[in-house]
Amino acid sequence: MNYSDIKYADMINGEGIRVSLFVSGCDHFCDGCFNKVSWDKNYGKPFTKEREKEIFDYFKKYGESLRGISLLGGDPTFPDNIEPLIEFLENFKKEFPSKDVWLWSGFTWEQINEDLQKIKLISLCDILVDGKFVENLKNLSLKWRGSLNQRVIDVKQSMRFKKVV
Ligand code: SF4
Repeated sequence: MNYSDIKYADMINGEGIRVSLFVSGCDHFCDGCFNKVSWDKNYGKPFTKEREKEIFDYFKKYGESLRGISLLGGDPTFPDNIEPLIEFLENFKKEFPSKDVWLWSGFTWEQINEDLQKIKLISLCDILVDGKFVENLKNLSLKWRGSLNQRVIDVKQSMRFKKVV
């Protein structure tokens, strides 16, 4: 899995102060995409164990002020990214069980729930922002999403009640 950027002390992508990891690879090809370079899964650099350690060290150093980690892209649910991110999140949650995880996917909640690997990844997250960016539904006043079709979903509650919360 490649990544294009890691933003430390990010206050834009999710609640609180966070670390945001932008992975490469996306086949949704949304018109008006904010990050077209990341469609190519080979864009950026390989996400190595050293990068993972850097992120974990940052949480160890500044953990008290950090709320959690955000996974964006590209698309974290792009096929090549799922297994590496499951491994990364399992390690992250072992080390930092009180921190939350936000993930942005071009797939909808319903589409994710048709795919066991995607479900496994999403079940390690707290918040899912779902769906493609739709240019003619773009709304700059929305928090954490670009277009009206996208939803900010509480993963645990949605799994518990078997409907989108
Ligand atoms: S899902 Fe996100 S990264 Fe992928 S094309 Fe759409 S806006 Fe761009």
